[in-house]
Amino acid sequence: VSVCNKDIGSLPAAFPFLSANILELFLLTGKHAVVTGGARGIGYVISEAYLQAGVSKLAIIDYSRNDEGISKLRAEFPKATISYYDCDVRSAEQVQKVIETIHEEFKTIEIFVANAGIAWTSGALIEQPDDAEWNNVINVDLNGVYHCAKNIGKIFKQQGKGSLIMTASMSAHIVNVPQLQAAYNVAKAGVLHLGKSLAVEWAPFARVNTISPGYIATELSDFVPDDIKNIWYSLTPKGRQGHPRELCGAYVYFASDASTYTTGSDLRVDGGYCSV
Ligand code: NAD
Repeated sequence: VSVCNKDIGSLPAAFPFLSANILELFLLTGKHAVVTGGARGIGYVISEAYLQAGVSKLAIIDYSRNDEGISKLRAEFPKATISYYDCDVRSAEQVQKVIETIHEEFKTIEIFVANAGIAWTSGALIEQPDDAEWNNVINVDLNGVYHCAKNIGKIFKQQGKGSLIMTASMSAHIVNVPQLQAAYNVAKAGVLHLGKSLAVEWAPFARVNTISPGYIATELSDFVPDDIKNIWYSLTPKGRQGHPRELCGAYVYFASDASTYTTGSDLRVDGGYCSV
C-alpha cells in the first residue's frame, strides 16, 4: 500500500486535514456564521444545520420581521448565541452597517451565506409595463448578494480566512419552462459568475462557492399554479421537488474544513434537472 506523503510545498503548518478524522472535518465547532434570508425557507434550514454542526454564534439577516424561526432555534440551541438583524439586502448602507455590527459582536465571522432572494412572478419580460419588477429582482437577487460579498470580503481579508457561500439556482444554468422568469435567471447567472470572480480575487485569504438548488419546497414558489409545478417535477429526473433539508449537506461542506481546496465551484442540488 502506498501512502500519499509527497511534499506539495507551502501548506500552512496547522492545516486541519493533515491529521483530523474525515468526519471531524465536516464539523463547524466553535465557528461563527451569518445567513441572509434565514427567517424562513432554505436559509432557516441552513441555520439550523449549522447549529447542529457546532456553530456557536449565528446571525440571521432578514427583512421579514419574522422572528418565529429564531425563537425556535434559540429554544433548540440554548448554548449558542443567535441574533436576528432586520435588514434589507437591497440597501448597501443597511448591509454595511449590519455586517459591521455583527463583526463587532462576534469578533470573527468564518462563514457567510448570501441566500436572501425573491422570485420573478411576472411572467414574460416583453409584456411588462415598466422596469420596476426587473430592477427589484436584480436588486435583491444580484445586488443584495454583491452588497454582502463586498462587506464580508473586507472582514475575511483582515482575518486571513473565511468561506462565502452564495445561493444561486439551477435557473443560473438553464431557462425554466413553462413559467418564464428572465430577470431571475439573469440575476442568478450573475451570482454564479460573481462567485467565480471573487474566488479568484480572494483566493489568498478566503473561499467562495455557489450552490444551485432545483425546485425546493418553500414559500418562494407558492405563486406558481399546481399544473405548472407538476410539469416542473415531471421534467426533474428525481420526479419530485426537493426538501430544503436535502440542501444542507452542500452548505455544511462548503462551510467546513472538508472543502479547504474547493473555491470557485458551483454545486447543483437539483434532482438531476440540469443533467437532462
Ligand atoms: P423564501 O421566500 O422561503 O425565503 C427567502 C427569505 O429571504 C425570506 O425570509 C425573505 O424575508 C428573505 N428576503 C427576501 N428579500 C430580502 C431582502 N431584500 N432583504 C432581506 N431578506 C430578504 O425562499 P427560499 O426558497 O428559501 O429561497 C432562498 C434562496 O434560495 C433564494 O435566493 C432563492 O432564489 C434560492 N432558490 C430557491 C429555490 C426554490 O425552489 N425554493 C430554488 C433555487 C434557488
